[in-house]
Amino acid sequence: MPRPVQAEISLAALRHNLGLIRQKAGRARIWSVVKANAYGHGIANVFPALQNSDGFALLDFNEAIRLRELGWQGPILLLEGFFEPDDLALIEQYQLTTAVHSFWQLAAIVNARLRRPIDIYLKVNSGMNRLGFAPDRLHAAWLEASASSNIGDITLMTHFASADSETGVAAPMALINALGAEMPLSHCLANSAATLWHPQTHADWVRPGIVLYGASPSGRWQDIADTGLKPVMRLSSQIIAVQPLQPGDRVGYGGRYCAAGSQRIGIVACGYADGYPRHAPGGTPVLVDGVKTAIVGTVSMDMLAVDLTPCPAAGIGSPVELWGAALPVDDVARAAGTLGYELLSALAPRVPVVTDQNLEVRMRG
Ligand SMILES: *Cc1c(COP(=O)(O)O)cnc(C)c1O
Repeated sequence: MPRPVQAEISLAALRHNLGLIRQKAGRARIWSVVKANAYGHGIANVFPALQNSDGFALLDFNEAIRLRELGWQGPILLLEGFFEPDDLALIEQYQLTTAVHSFWQLAAIVNARLRRPIDIYLKVNSGMNRLGFAPDRLHAAWLEASASSNIGDITLMTHFASADSETGVAAPMALINALGAEMPLSHCLANSAATLWHPQTHADWVRPGIVLYGASPSGRWQDIADTGLKPVMRLSSQIIAVQPLQPGDRVGYGGRYCAAGSQRIGIVACGYADGYPRHAPGGTPVLVDGVKTAIVGTVSMDMLAVDLTPCPAAGIGSPVELWGAALPVDDVARAAGTLGYELLSALAPRVPVVTDQNLEVRMRG
């Protein structure tokens, strides 16, 4: 038997989430964001469930090429653009759409020898101060781009810094509306948070990522609990040992947990080398036999310990859900001081991944 840790990917949930986002997005077309190996779910795994997307957005050339190899002939958007002029050969070969956030990129395209024009997303910095043209330089960038026969469609793009918080999108939207009045361009603005919570941002294309995978853009599951979005990844394992503790016994590296009374704990085959956060403190929620309990002591590389007090019937072989449909990854992330984004995308390569489609195939075989 292989080590019992595994990640199950529900393509049914993913399809459901895409359908739900499509309803929210109204007439906007959808770039499904599949960067970081589809937020840890695996590009090849999620592709069958996301074929109704209008396009795929990502950052890495190898992921773009993987999508082409899987048979995707529609649009692919490089969210960070390209990294050196030579990259234009791949952009042309695989017919990629690229973000253009700097004048050097614009010059590289204008001066390249291309067989056909490249579609670009002209990115404006609307306050995040990460990527994008300064608002007062955008007009010049647009004039340069529209004069070049190497450039096809031009879309105006920005990325919101605070669409998931109180600050909202008012200031960046005022900027975009002013720029839009000067330049007749399609717009692509919304990430997951804006797609869910700011319909005035939907425009021509939206770029949802995290919501496709059923986690919250704000980091709080309650914020999306009533949307109908379903968690896509379930990380599970089993109890591989049980330790009966006496008062004063300690658990794990550094003995950070100390039993107050007599207590049973279970040792779970899952640790930080599987992608479980090492900083998850005692008290982080976990399900054993479907019953909610908590981890105790320091998470080790390959194991963690859980309190079996709430589930006295649990023992060796009992199923453990680290996160999934019954325990939102957002809740685990929150306890560990991070976001579902980080936990999902940090799923370790050593964890075997199965999809509900594989399972069907296996049962049929
Ligand atoms: C990652 C990313 C997105 C998707 O963000 P979510 O919060 O996961 O929806 C959209 N646009 C850009 C530019 C991104 O880098």
